[in-house]
Amino acid sequence: MAAKLIDGNLLSKQLRSDVARRAAALTAQGRQPGLAVILVGESPASQVYVRNKVKACEDSGIHSVLEKYDADLSEAALLARIDALNHDPKINGLLVQLPLPPHIDTNKVIEAIAADKDVDGFHVNNAGLLMTGQPLFRPCTPYGVMKMLESIDYPVRGANAVVVGASNIVGKPQAMLLLQAGATVTICNSKTRDLASHTRNADILVVATGRRNIVTADMVKPGAVVIDVGMNRDDQGKLCGDVDFANVKEVAGYITPVPGGVGPMTITMLLVNTIEAAERN
Ligand code: NAP
Repeated sequence: MAAKLIDGNLLSKQLRSDVARRAAALTAQGRQPGLAVILVGESPASQVYVRNKVKACEDSGIHSVLEKYDADLSEAALLARIDALNHDPKINGLLVQLPLPPHIDTNKVIEAIAADKDVDGFHVNNAGLLMTGQPLFRPCTPYGVMKMLESIDYPVRGANAVVVGASNIVGKPQAMLLLQAGATVTICNSKTRDLASHTRNADILVVATGRRNIVTADMVKPGAVVIDVGMNRDDQGKLCGDVDFANVKEVAGYITPVPGGVGPMTITMLLVNTIEAAERN
């Protein structure tokens, strides 16, 4: 294997021990950091995500509150709970697990979260602050990717970065963070013509589409850093990313595995955002 692995579990462990240290310092001053997570409905995947988030808080000394509601919770009732948590001094970070049931307006819910508690970084104020180069909360997944690049001391400034995927939660904020770090950034989406002509130019290639094997070895510049955000299932039902890992690792300089890459970093950065919010208070 040519590429070096960027181990998200190992890096997470290091970052989480720093979070635990900072949480303990705040707790000693009587200001234990707190995160509230709201889950509406019974999606098994969402249940696992919120359980992992709450457990990660407990392991790091962050107070956590999990509020679970049936799928038929009204939008008004959800907004009322958000308002109460916005005003709860014990809560520094608040997130509503997505997706929400179809009768609830997701944008309205995100905008109801106090921007200074929006640890997911999805609120339009936080998207605007990121866009204008003065981020308050960086969305967790792209923030984690930046930490991965930092962990290998990668010179992002001046590098060609290609982000495949342009969602509000991953691709777009990823592109903004890379741009801010001085990269020359290309964003690709499902309408991009000749995807390979872009990806082959990438020193840093971040792939976040939810399409298995969308990036194959012939699409990667030798020595590039390949960050695989995707989470899919292969034919055996095993978790896999968007990148053809077995072949791309022979070409890339660095690569992130799935599982054990970006996934653990996302939860870790949620903890980091919660600590940052608590320290700002
Ligand atoms: P999303 O909202 O579905 O967005 C997917 C993006 O990929 C869209 O911008 C879409 O383009 C683009 N795309 C789709 N097919 C493409 C193609 N053939 N060529 C180029 N671009 C293409 O997904 P998301 O929420 O960003 O998530 C993406 C993946 O990351 C999913 O597998 C998700 O499970 C995973 N994820 C992982 C983590 C983690 O912690 N590891 C966190 C979040 C998400 P259009 O804009 O044209 O539709």
